Order: sequence, then C-alpha cells, then structure tokens
Amino acid sequence: MYMSGDEIRSVYLSFFEEKGHLRLPSSSLLPDDPTLMFTSAGMVQFKPYFLGQAQPPAKRITTVQKCLRTGDLENVGHTSRHHTFFEMLGNFSIGDYFKKEAILWAWELVTQRFKLPPERLWVTIYQDDDESFDIWHNLVGLPENRIVRMGKEENFWGPPGPTGPCGPCSEIHYDMGEEWPCDDPSKGPAAEGERFREFWNLVFTQYYQDENGNLSDLPRKNIDTGMGLERMAAIMQGKPTNFETDLFQPIIEAIGQLTGKKYEENLVAFRVIADHIRALTFAITDGAVPSNEGRGYVIRRIARRSVRYGLQLGKEEPFLYNIVPVVVEHYKNWYPELIGGQDLSMKLIKQEEEAFLRTLSSSQRYLDELVQQMKKQGIKEVPAEEVFRLYDTYGLPLDIIDDVLQENNLSTDKEKLNQIIEQYKEQSRASWKGGEAVLTDTIFTRLVGNIKTEFTGYDQLEDSSTIIATVKDNSRTELHEGDEGAIIVEHTPFYAESGGQEADHGIITTETGTFRVDDVQKVLGGNVIVHYGQVTSGVIKEGQQAFLQVDIERRKAMQRAHTATHLLHAALRRVLGDHVRQGGSKVGPDWFRFDFSHFESMSPAQIQEVERLVNEQVLENKEVNIFFTSLDEAKKMGAMALFGEKYGETVRVVEVPDWSMELCGGTHAKRTGDIGLFHIISESASSQGIRRIEAITGKKALEHLWNLEKLVKDVAEELDTSKDMVVQKLQKLNQDLKEKDKEIKHLIERVHTAEGKELFTKAEEINGIKFINAVFPPRDPSALIIAVDAMRSFNKPFVAALGTLNNEKPVLVLAASPDVAEKVNLREVVNMAASYIGGKGGGRPTLVQAGGTDASRLSVAVQQAIYECKRRLGLA
Ligand code: ATP
Ligand code: MG
Repeated sequence: MYMSGDEIRSVYLSFFEEKGHLRLPSSSLLPDDPTLMFTSAGMVQFKPYFLGQAQPPAKRITTVQKCLRTGDLENVGHTSRHHTFFEMLGNFSIGDYFKKEAILWAWELVTQRFKLPPERLWVTIYQDDDESFDIWHNLVGLPENRIVRMGKEENFWGPPGPTGPCGPCSEIHYDMGEEWPCDDPSKGPAAEGERFREFWNLVFTQYYQDENGNLSDLPRKNIDTGMGLERMAAIMQGKPTNFETDLFQPIIEAIGQLTGKKYEENLVAFRVIADHIRALTFAITDGAVPSNEGRGYVIRRIARRSVRYGLQLGKEEPFLYNIVPVVVEHYKNWYPELIGGQDLSMKLIKQEEEAFLRTLSSSQRYLDELVQQMKKQGIKEVPAEEVFRLYDTYGLPLDIIDDVLQENNLSTDKEKLNQIIEQYKEQSRASWKGGEAVLTDTIFTRLVGNIKTEFTGYDQLEDSSTIIATVKDNSRTELHEGDEGAIIVEHTPFYAESGGQEADHGIITTETGTFRVDDVQKVLGGNVIVHYGQVTSGVIKEGQQAFLQVDIERRKAMQRAHTATHLLHAALRRVLGDHVRQGGSKVGPDWFRFDFSHFESMSPAQIQEVERLVNEQVLENKEVNIFFTSLDEAKKMGAMALFGEKYGETVRVVEVPDWSMELCGGTHAKRTGDIGLFHIISESASSQGIRRIEAITGKKALEHLWNLEKLVKDVAEELDTSKDMVVQKLQKLNQDLKEKDKEIKHLIERVHTAEGKELFTKAEEINGIKFINAVFPPRDPSALIIAVDAMRSFNKPFVAALGTLNNEKPVLVLAASPDVAEKVNLREVVNMAASYIGGKGGGRPTLVQAGGTDASRLSVAVQQAIYECKRRLGLA
C-alpha cells in the first residue's frame, strides 16, 4: 500500500494519540545541552524526564523528531538507508506502559495501519531478554525462526554515560526481497547485506547501571522507540532506497536540472548532495552556522562534502545553494520554520561553496608542496599526521591524497592513519552522546540525590537558607579555611551562569565561617544551583543556616549590560534589517559581546545610528517589564525567541515598551535609564555571516570617556597646545615634516654625489680606466645610482661595482661608461658575481643591478665583478 511521507507521519501520530499519547512538536536540532552536538534521537528532548529531573506534561508522548547524526556521515550515499538529517517517529512511556504494550502496539501499527505483510517482518531481541521473546512469540505469534537474538553491541541501549539508565531493545526489520544480495537469508537481520532493513527500534529502559557495571531494576521503567521516516517511506513506496521516495525526489530532480546530469549515472553524488543540502537547510534554520569548531565544524564538513560531490558532477562554481528553496518548498508545511531560514541557509551555503572551492585549489598546492619537500629530504613515508591534516583541515579526500602519493612513489602508515581517524570519529561520537554533562550530573546525583534548589535572586540580592551540601573533591565534607569547594543551599539569590550572563559573585556566611563565591553553575538539568569558591575564614558545615549576599555592584553592572543587549538587538534589526538574529552573547559587568547574523561589516554611520537609537531608549528611561506567560501567548505577542534555544511551557518575557520583547531568563535593569550610557567599542567579523559587537555601559562607558579625554589632553600637552587646537597643530606638524623630508632628501643626494665623486677620484686607474669598488653601509639602492651618476659627470672611462644591504638583503650595482660597456657585457658579469650572493641580476648595458639572499659574501661579489671586468678588458 503506497503512503507518502506526510501520510506516514500522520498515521503514526494519530495511532499513538488513539492510544492515549500526547502529541508534541519536534525540538530543535541544536539541543540546549551544550555538550551534545545535535539532537540525534527522539528521546533527546525528554532526557530530563527519563532521568527524573523534570516533570513530563504527560506520561505517554508521541513525536516526529528532526535528527542529525554525524556518526553516519561517511556512510551517506553508500548505503540505501543512512542520512545525516532524518526524521524519527517515536512513542515514549515515562514510567507508564512497558514492553508488552510497546511490542503489541508496534505490531498493530505496522501490520494493520501500514498493512505490511507479516511474513516479511523479522525482529531482533537482546540475547538474554526472554520476556521480549515471549511477547513476540506467544502474544504476537511470530515464528521462532524470525526472532533473532543479538548481542550487547546491537540490542542493548545505554547508559548514556559511565552510569545511568539502560536496557535491552528490540528492532523490527523488513525483508526487501530476494533481489537484494545477502550471504545467508535464513539468518535474517543477522545476515550481511541490505536485504533485511531495520526500520524501528523499541528501547526498553529497565535498568540502572552503577559505577561497577552492576544492573539494578529501575523503579520506573521507560519506553523509547524510534522509527526512521525515510526508511518507512522506502518500504511503503516499494522503493529500493530512501532516495527514491517522495521525501527526496523533488530534491534529486532539482540536482539533475542544475547540473544537467542523470541520477542513474551518478547515484552517489546525487544522494550525498540531496542528503547534505537537506541537512544543512534544516540545521542552519535551527541556528547552526558553519565554523571551525564544534557544531559549526560538523556543518562545515557536511557543506564541504557536498561541494566535492558537486565537482564530480562537473560544477566548478557555487550552485548547491540553489537547492535550498526546493527543500523549503517541499518541507515547509510540516516545518514552517524553514521559510524564515531560507535566505540565511542560501547565503551561508553559497559562502561555504565559494570558500571551499578556493581552498580546494590551494590544498592541491599544499599537497604538491608536501610532496616536493618529502622528495627533497629523501623521505619515502609521509607521516600519518600530515596526511590526516590534509584530510581534515584541507578537506582533501583520502583517495585523492592516496593517488598523488602513489604517483610520486610515496607511502604513508595506513594503520596509524586509520587509528588517528578512528580516534577523531570516537571524539565526535562521544560529543553527541553527551558524555560530560552526564558525568558531572551523575556525580551530583550520587552526592545529593534528586533535589531541587530555588533561585530567589530576581527580586532580592540577599537571602538566608539552610546548607544542603558542602562538597570538596567530589565528596561531601566540611569545608575549612583555605578549602576550595562547592556549596548547595535550599534557595539562593545567586544567579548561575546562563543565557550568556556571567555568574554572580558574593559571600556566604554562617555562624562559624565565611565563603567567597567565585562562580555559580547549574547542574542536574538546571535543577540544582552550585556555588563554587573558597572558605576565607572558619569552617562551613552542612545543616547550618547561611546568609547569602550577592556582590551588588557587580550584579547591577551586569544588569545594565544585559538590558543593553536587548536594546541593541532591537536597534540592529531596525537599522540593518529583519535578517539580524542574535547568535551567542556574553554579558559581564558593564561589558558585553553580542554575535548576530549579518553579511558585511557595518558602516561607521550604521554603528553610530545604532548607538544613537540605544541611547535614545536609555534617555527615555522606560520601565523594563518582566512577566511570565505561555510560550504560545508570548509568540503571539511577537516576543523574540533565541535561535536554537529550548523553552518550557511557561516562559519569562522581558519587555522594553514599544522597543523590544524577548524571552529571557537573565536579570535586568529596572529602568532603561539605569544603563547610564551605552557605547560600542568594536564591530568585527566573528565567523562567516556572523558579526560581533562589543559594547560597554554605565561605569565602564564613563571610564572609557575619561580615558579618551585624558588621551586627548596628554596629546595636547605633548604637542604644546590646547585640546581644540590638536588637529590643526598636527596638520601643521605634518606639513613641516614633509618639507623637512624634501630637504633631507636633497641633502642626502648631495652627500651621495660627493661620495661618488670622492670614490672616483681616489680609485685605481689602469690604461685610463677608473676601477671603483665599494660596499656601503645599509641604504636604499637608489643612493648607489646617485653615486654612479656622480661618477659619470667626469666623462671619463670607468667601471664601478657597488654593494649595500637593503632590508638585510644584499644588493649589487655594476655600472660603466658607454665606451667600456661596449667591450664588457655587464649583464653577464653581474650574473656571475651575483652567484656569490645567491641572486640574479639585469638592467641596461651601462647599468645593471642584482639582488640576492646571502649577504655574507657581498664584498667578494663586488671584487669579483671588478676582477671579471678587468679580465674581459685584458687588464688582468
Ligand atoms: P543502523 O544500524 O541502520 O545504522 P541504528 O541502530 O543506528 O540503525 P537507531 O539508533 O536504533 O538506529 O535509531 C532508530 C531508527 O532511526 C532506526 O531504526 C532507523 O529507522 C532510523 N535511523 C537511524 N539512523 C539513521 C540514519 N543515519 N538515517 C536514517 N534513518 C536512521
Ligand atoms: Mg546507526
């Protein structure tokens, strides 16, 4: 039964709605967990629910989730079923139903709604999971030989860090038919090849794994399933690979039109490009930007890989960006955010194409240079690290590198190279599984259990609260004078670093001691606020009543800066246009950095206009309104949400009336007038398509002004004039300087002329010809020409060889009177002499000049030139 991609999504979600699930939207491809590269599965946005750190809106949830997997990047184009970006359909149970329902419903959906023939379905289970076997065999009625037991590698999920929830899984496979190659069909999914195609994974999270690897039953068991939409579409549409489905066809057609090539003749290139441009469009829309690190680097690699395949299709100029509108058109009904992301996606992809096409030609050069170097040094084996650099930094494909090495009889240690590449892949895998955040989280869970601390610092900067935990070196212990450690209390006025705003500083005191707070961070999914710092006197113990005081000056200065970022954001959109969107930001005391999307540097007039608008808002001294509302309501009111940020149901809105409205959890000035003064100190490029502004407020702005004033005053003093005369005075000084320069030049000419004449008079004379040789201290070569001209003024036969250093490089001038030059070819002589200084020369018959690189034998060169002239004149 044919079903379109759209239909499959609807059937899936409706089915689980019928089974009591709440339908929720996909979360962004950029998870708010900074250690996680991209959203790689449907459960990512629900992790806090599964870990018991947050309350879910329902126990049964169903979604279609945008996913991006960097671990599958190299596979894309070479298998029928792997993408970087794909959509995952999922149903989730958070401590509600378990294995039996999950399996029975999966079977019902697949055989009755999707109407897949049961005899084509196979399942795998974890080797020890007899419970699943029982359900598949006895309740579903699947014959024993189509239930395949597999090992931990394939059918056991998690834990996502060293410890945590985990469990067996069961995967459903579809038999694509005999025409697909397969080593042994009776093995089903365990066979090699792509005949048996996994399309749905049911994960049964039932255990908790502790530090020693022991498994214990979880009190609340979870279900987490993932069905690949593209794979399901291939099955429902009877297509050999995902790329022939309706989800890809318009994109594939567009590539054909843009390149004039045929899909059937260029399968891999078409598939890679279709996949990658789809991924880039979705990722850029969600806020990813190509760069040289982290997420941005993955995006850049995807872009570069598509450019390389574009070259295979014979396109040497940017064209891939023209595929973006096709992706948007095709997906905008389900993902309307793509409409707003189209322009940015096109611009960024085009820039990447231009830049990489340039790099490719220069990386080729780098490779050539490397080969030359190796040959010169007589090295036959190119270090694997160098090859990796070519591959990774310059993006040269390994097979190209290999070819070139072979052509030049060079080799590399392949094993080592593979090791380096594996290691690198391991790192990027680890980062999307989010190792680190989970690690600190597990330490804190172990230390304090599932607690929640409250932030009271929006309205007050002091508070008293009970100390829940004092931590040092990852264990709970009293903190003594000099100890560095962490303190957790029930409620705190300290703002933890988040949303770009730096942490509060301050002091925590108890009856027995004082603790200086240097940093404040949130852990356990934002539930727990941790104060880091040092005990400055006495001792701090758990259970004590503590008095918490935020450093008011610092906090106020950060509030001024934070509110100013909102004013700036709105001003930029007014001056530069609506394409401006905030990227990262960092807010410190009376200083901030603000990144935003824009494609060229701002003109001084634009910067001034932005600064003027912001200060106008400051002068109007508007009240800053802060309120909570639902996400929907806030969006309706036109509040700006941050790109790639995840928001809960209730959001905090910060409004400057008639100017700016943003979702924001930061702390703010009460009125715009508090900001005092706003000033932009720099505007620069942060990365391609992203500009960066640094600005100051309040006291820093005032100090800046004072410094400028002092600078002008100092300059005026130094110039011996008043402040308002500084410019005029400088102009006059410049004028004087120019005149002096002229005068000096004239004097120098006279000196060189005199020098030339003196050398001439004193020089050796043979047969009426003067022979002059001299090496001058470093000077401009034009001085030598002046000296030669002076010699010519005698109108007598001569040869002069003069040397000097210019910028530490030797220069040789050889001149002769016309009669001598007729007999001696000066060019030949100078070239011979220049070989002493590692150089070459040339010029007119009566005046030649040579430059070199080796200064040590300059005087030898000069003497050799004279000697050679004498020899050619028959005088030596
Ligand atoms: P495979 O072994 O085929 O790579 P997987 O075991 O990595 O798949 P899971 O992590 O279990 O897949 O993800 C759940 C489902 O998501 C899979 O059954 C599949 O339908 C889909 N899926 C996973 N990775 C991809 C991908 N790179 N491209 C398209 N769909 C995918
Ligand atoms: Mg996989």
